[in-house]
Amino acid sequence: MSLATYFDHNATTPVSPAAREAWMEACERFWQNPSSLYREAGAAKRRLEEAREIVADRLGAEPERVIFTSGATEANNAVLRSVAGRSPEMGCLISTVEHPSVREPARREFRSDRLEEIPVHRESGAIDLDFLSVRLRGDRLPGLVSVMAANNETGALQPWREAARLCRDAGVPFHCDAAQWIGKRPASGFGESCGYLTGCAHKFGGPKGVGFLLIPESEQEFFCSQIGGPQESGHRAGTEDLPGILGMLAAWDEKPDADLAAAESERLAARRTFETALVERLPGTRIIAPEADRLWNTVMYVAPDHPNLKWLTRLSAAGFAVSTGSACSAGRGNPSHVMAAMGLDFEEMGRVIRVSGGWETSPADWSALVDALVAVSADLDSGKRDLGGMLGGGDG
Ligand code: PLP
Repeated sequence: MSLATYFDHNATTPVSPAAREAWMEACERFWQNPSSLYREAGAAKRRLEEAREIVADRLGAEPERVIFTSGATEANNAVLRSVAGRSPEMGCLISTVEHPSVREPARREFRSDRLEEIPVHRESGAIDLDFLSVRLRGDRLPGLVSVMAANNETGALQPWREAARLCRDAGVPFHCDAAQWIGKRPASGFGESCGYLTGCAHKFGGPKGVGFLLIPESEQEFFCSQIGGPQESGHRAGTEDLPGILGMLAAWDEKPDADLAAAESERLAARRTFETALVERLPGTRIIAPEADRLWNTVMYVAPDHPNLKWLTRLSAAGFAVSTGSACSAGRGNPSHVMAAMGLDFEEMGRVIRVSGGWETSPADWSALVDALVAVSADLDSGKRDLGGMLGGGDG
């Protein structure tokens, strides 16, 4: 598939050439087990520890806090399980729009009366900080608060710095799932603000199946689910995926914080031009959280008239990849909890489409997508008219 027509970067990104090269090089030069004791293994171990320092430096944290994982799902699961195991009597507070890799372990690990949700404002998709603030002044404090940095469906940015500050003032551990933020926005500051932080490579041009977790400095006893050898300072057993880790770093290196910050307004302008054209040329389109602070690459909208799967199939035939972003319409029967939190009804959820561009997406690509959507709309409308004619009735 051409990258010009790939608009599903929030699902995953293509592996960048630099990441691929770093991965291949590591497979050739550093294939030994970093835990072994001969010279070549020592070189792999040094490379691994350098990588840890680089990740820590980018996040503003100490290297001892970094655990390499198989991705964001593992990291999120590990945080919830660890906190629940340590203080089962304490509850957990998560936002209503967390990724399933936070939501599901939270449900499993905490009794239903110990799991609370922070609502989001419907117009922005951002959490209600007043709710959090009041809750953290209450009697029974939670053992953890978990708020993502940017939402994978709507792209809504969360006030994670403010949430982290409220938690710090209340003495409550704070976790932030930054899987969709890292690589798109500057990452410095996470280390100081967040006790726990999750990131993964395949959302920013790195390989799949690799990511990292930051833990609080005081958490010497923290361990991920797999138990065995003493890798990752005893926090996570299993031989480290050094090629994957170096591939991840190479992809991240291409996106220094200064470049991310400098490019943001231009990227946002391209997204805004797309949104304006979409609403003008496809009357009835409704952008979700149009005025809110959102990722520069993400647009979620309710399409006019037709179910999202019909749009997706026809767009795919035209060479464009977009997403429903809503499990119910993918035939799995679960309405999107994010869309529900944003106040959409069931019928609207079936018309939701998520478009997520990437670094290589140009203004011309966004414009080509609008043209494709207009063509698909005409196609869908004519099908509806034909069917209406065949049945001898109107659209009803
Ligand atoms: N958290 C968020 C916000 C995500 O968007 C995703 C992936 O879609 C994940 C976690 C899971 O990431 P991984 O595929 O690395 O397990």
